[in-house]
Amino acid sequence: MLFRELNRGNCKTYVVGCEATRRAALIDPLREHLDRYLAFLAYHRYTLEFALDTHTHADHRTGTWDLRDLTGARTVMHERAPAPNIDVHVEDGDRLPLGNLELEVLATPGHSPDGISLRLGDRVLTGDSLLIHGTGRTDFLGGDPGVQYDFIQEKLFGLPDATLVFPGHDYRGHTQSTVGEEKRTNPRLAGHTREDYVRLMNGLGLPLPEKIQEALQANQSSIEDDSLRFPALSQLSQVGQLTPRDVQERLSSPAPPLLVDVRQPDEYSGELGHIAGSRSIPLRELAARVEEISAHRTREVVCVCRAGVRSTTAAALLTGLGFEQVWNLKGGMLDWKNASLPVER
Ligand code: FE
Repeated sequence: MLFRELNRGNCKTYVVGCEATRRAALIDPLREHLDRYLAFLAYHRYTLEFALDTHTHADHRTGTWDLRDLTGARTVMHERAPAPNIDVHVEDGDRLPLGNLELEVLATPGHSPDGISLRLGDRVLTGDSLLIHGTGRTDFLGGDPGVQYDFIQEKLFGLPDATLVFPGHDYRGHTQSTVGEEKRTNPRLAGHTREDYVRLMNGLGLPLPEKIQEALQANQSSIEDDSLRFPALSQLSQVGQLTPRDVQERLSSPAPPLLVDVRQPDEYSGELGHIAGSRSIPLRELAARVEEISAHRTREVVCVCRAGVRSTTAAALLTGLGFEQVWNLKGGMLDWKNASLPVER
């Protein structure tokens, strides 16, 4: 089995491959190192089968879409990942065949709702859930320390103690650990109750990642060019959120809101469907096409997407463009579907 970490920095990208079939997967590739990954794969004569992110990253631009574009590799992320252009959505327990190998998906949300770990034989890649003698922060991106604690305990600490642990980040020069070692010595987890953990994580007071403004919304929306000026994070946090039931109620009122679905056209007509009467304007075209909905400047507008993340960006943009009553459909079409509300295709 091929297994290497390719960045040699704080932020880890792993390549795994089946030596017999020369099929490989890149896990958490950085956009800035694409040349290096492609050269590595070519030199060692591997075909890239999967480009995979363990979660939506806030500290660097992902390289997955460029890799898909350049090699034909399939992009893989968790079902809750907000971005478009994901070829394979995975959930807990799914298995991705890679030549004669198999990557097993373990749901490990908490750092973000779309967090996964990947188990491969004697090892597990833990993304930003369990780190070596630490854990991934839970204070933005929809993070939740209690959820993180539960899934680390159940999914990761449920693995055999000898399982090797390879995290998505390390700031102290560690390269690997084991499940047993982390259970015994991880200072945030060993001997701590769930309540201890939640209190500790909520009190960390860390500064936001340096590149969050450039990286986060670009990764959430798969918008790689300069077609859009993303709103500031403070504007995102001011967007009003409506649950699917709230939106459904407003739709049957005498003055229903305008629904603007900002997903890509293939998603609008895809598996999750769309809400009847919603207007399709992809996020990347929203600023340029805003005149099409200018009659609604003073009326209610609800932005809709897959997971409610891109639509929060859209809602902040529309507010910035002078729209007075803009809302977001919280949880997007995923939560709309979970609420068993009607869709059109
Ligand atoms: Fe992260």
